[in-house]
Amino acid sequence: MSLPAGVERRQFGDESALATRGDPVYGEPTTDGWRQWDPHRSKLGAMLELGLETGLEGGDGVLYLGAASGTTVSHVADMAGPTYAVEFAPRPLRDLLSVVESRPNLFPLLADARQPATYAHVVEHGLDVLIQDVATTGQARVANGNAQFLAGDGTLVLAIKARSEDVTQDPDAVFEDSIATLESTYEILDTTHLEPFHDDHLAVIATPA
Ligand code: SAM
Repeated sequence: MSLPAGVERRQFGDESALATRGDPVYGEPTTDGWRQWDPHRSKLGAMLELGLETGLEGGDGVLYLGAASGTTVSHVADMAGPTYAVEFAPRPLRDLLSVVESRPNLFPLLADARQPATYAHVVEHGLDVLIQDVATTGQARVANGNAQFLAGDGTLVLAIKARSEDVTQDPDAVFEDSIATLESTYEILDTTHLEPFHDDHLAVIATPA
């Protein structure tokens, strides 16, 4: 698999790990300006560690849904182009503002990813990659609603958390339902469980149908 430009494997003490160049955000180890990307704390980091083709090449235009306080989207902004970060909880978004200070290509938006019309006038269309990690009900519907921002040959990089859909249902049944919903809008390119980094999470890589 090819890592995006701007993501490299670096040595941190005894450990070889993925890293991007930028100011540290969550207390991660750094060396020579590179910051370790912890796959246990980042679904996208886990996908790259597991060798998934995410469509990220470096310098891409990205919409990131579920930015929280910026653990993952900070790494994305380190290697991508314009990166729009949607988060609906005010508290983590406040923390994200300090992440933005050294990343002029990162644009935080306090908005609900279930209502893309509320940010459609701010976020550019024809983006290369849509990354989603919202951990809420209706994750597939959220991805479908935001497909409008992707270029025709763009890539959806989605982490589905089974327990956010239904704690009582078998995770594989949840994933099947989610895939069926996604198929109304996307062609599925790949699916992979995120163990051992994240339990009961499925990564889905897709492109607009
Ligand atoms: N992606 C983050 C990272 O790796 O650094 C972690 C994201 S956390 C699992 C899920 C985030 O999605 C939470 O911060 C939550 O507030 C946010 N979220 C949930 N539903 C949302 C929605 N409808 N719109 C925007 N953000 C949402």
